[in-house]
Amino acid sequence: MTSDGPAGRLVVVATPIGNMGDLSPRAADALRHADLVCCEDTRRTGRLLQHAAVAAPPLRRVDAHTEAEAAGDVVARVGRGETVALVTDAGTPGVSDPGTRVVAAVVAAGLAVEVVPGPVAAIAAVVLSGLPTDRLAIDGFLPRGGPERSVRLAELAVERRTTALYEAPGRVAATLAEVAAACGDDRPVAVARELTKLHEEVWRGPAGEAAAWAAAHEVRGEVVIVVGGAPAAEGAEGDDAVLVALRAARAQGLSPGRAAAEVAAALGRPRREVYALALAADET
Ligand code: SAM
Repeated sequence: MTSDGPAGRLVVVATPIGNMGDLSPRAADALRHADLVCCEDTRRTGRLLQHAAVAAPPLRRVDAHTEAEAAGDVVARVGRGETVALVTDAGTPGVSDPGTRVVAAVVAAGLAVEVVPGPVAAIAAVVLSGLPTDRLAIDGFLPRGGPERSVRLAELAVERRTTALYEAPGRVAATLAEVAAACGDDRPVAVARELTKLHEEVWRGPAGEAAAWAAAHEVRGEVVIVVGGAPAAEGAEGDDAVLVALRAARAQGLSPGRAAAEVAAALGRPRREVYALALAADET
């Protein structure tokens, strides 16, 4: 089935994270009308299409290893006027999943990209956590180890936004222990498991207790860890971060006093300290 008009497009389609009822009618339509569906696992997407009673369009496997190569083919097809749909195994493509390279290639070629929005495990978890949702970060999977992991945990310790982390079930207890060590036993967290599925469960409480809970229970299934933001006092940013923020504020034309006031409020630092840094920076 080839699209009617000459203009092709890439359609990024979100799919359920566990509950097939979350496949939107628009998502099913987008898959039905695609000339090609790019997916991580052809068998898994085949089952989804069967569930949605979508007569199978050709499927092409596009995973982390093949995405760069596939991006060129997708651009060529969209350029010829085809409609290419992009899905992943679960949730929204590009969110800790393949997709960004294909989207970037199609954008760079000046071709059309559309999205059919839908489930994102991190958003579902944050909403259920009961933690503030006014400022959010989706930090994906932490680096597996080494200094990269320590740096990310140190960043989490001073992060003011509610942060969602993806984690494999076998690593949840260890990660919660590290979160508690970095952020303090009292930092509020939520552990959201098997969202939208039969055994959906959310554990809410302080990080130290979460680590003990996870160590005492086998945490099965898919899990998102939600970490509450650092309170203002603990979230005080280092001088480097203050200087970066001051430079940005001054570049927008703010006086040293006004810039110091804005940055102090944003980063939770005493205004006089920030003002002193602003004056020192102006002198250098
Ligand atoms: N693109 C997906 C999205 O939009 O949420 C994320 C894909 S990432 C490879 C997979 C991770 O998402 C899992 O390891 C788990 O942390 C989280 N996840 C996926 N489905 C979930 C569910 N039903 N309940 C809780 N976490 C889930």
